[in-house]
Amino acid sequence: MYRIRFHGRGGQGMKTASRILGSALFAEGFEVQDAPRYGAERRGAPIFAYVRADRRPINERGIIRRPDLVVVADDTLIPVPAAGVLAGLDAYSVLLIHSHESADTWRRRLNTPARVLVLPLIEESADRADLPYVGAVCAGAAACLLGVISEDALATALRDELGPLGEAVVQRNLDKALAAYRQMVEVCGVVTEGREANAADYTPPEWISLAFEGANVSAPVIHAGLTSSAVKTGLWRTLRPVIDYDRCGRCWWVCSSLCPDGAIQVEEGRPTIDYDHCKGCLVCVAVCPPHAIEAQPERTAESLETPK
Ligand code: SF4
Ligand code: SF4
Repeated sequence: MYRIRFHGRGGQGMKTASRILGSALFAEGFEVQDAPRYGAERRGAPIFAYVRADRRPINERGIIRRPDLVVVADDTLIPVPAAGVLAGLDAYSVLLIHSHESADTWRRRLNTPARVLVLPLIEESADRADLPYVGAVCAGAAACLLGVISEDALATALRDELGPLGEAVVQRNLDKALAAYRQMVEVCGVVTEGREANAADYTPPEWISLAFEGANVSAPVIHAGLTSSAVKTGLWRTLRPVIDYDRCGRCWWVCSSLCPDGAIQVEEGRPTIDYDHCKGCLVCVAVCPPHAIEAQPERTAESLETPK
């Protein structure tokens, strides 16, 4: 069975990538599962989507923990622990990173037993706030690495998935997907099918019978904060919204009420951003009437203190 995970940020097309790859595998005669995993998150948040494909019926369910291929659409996710990009990689796995840095650089940087490949970044958006859509590119590269998908099957799957968006969108993405496919030709088929988990290896848990207790005794006790306010969800942000108070018109009901995370607080009519919980979705940048909020790359904004 092939087990493939696509990692990216919400808006980059990882769900579409998994659907295109899944449809292409189906067209080649495989049984397929494909599903995204993003919970209630949104644009810019780390998400992943996964595909299983086998010639036999697939009984395995749930997220993929031991992938044969991991495709990373956005290399800024690799150091983000919550993204779990490197989870489960072993010496039989292939890690494909969409990046402007070389495979050698990533091999030196990452302590992973997996084989590391790079899909060169074809285009970098001029607007840092714009998340490039790379679903078709990632699906095309992955299709070639598996070595069991023809260009025709890839094109048919892509047309099936993107057809409702119109011929211009289909053609643009098809060109990119096929270009990515051909960039991988030298390593076509490098991904091998993982070994099937054997039911005979399964060790049942050792059950412990607990005496029944009333709810006042048996209800769980919470020892550590794990609510959204206690968890610093702002850690995965790559772009930071910064308010220019000289331009700010104090129309706080706009930015504070439209921030989906309630990360903009208002005191005496003055908005401030809670950077521990701001996820960098940049909704506030888009809605601020006088354009008083600017998106700054997190790396250069790191040294800035919260504006007073
Ligand atoms: S929407 Fe913009 S101008 Fe209005 S209070 Fe918020 S930051 Fe200031
Ligand atoms: S403060 Fe702005 S960028 Fe941060 S979560 Fe709220 S709307 Fe998104």
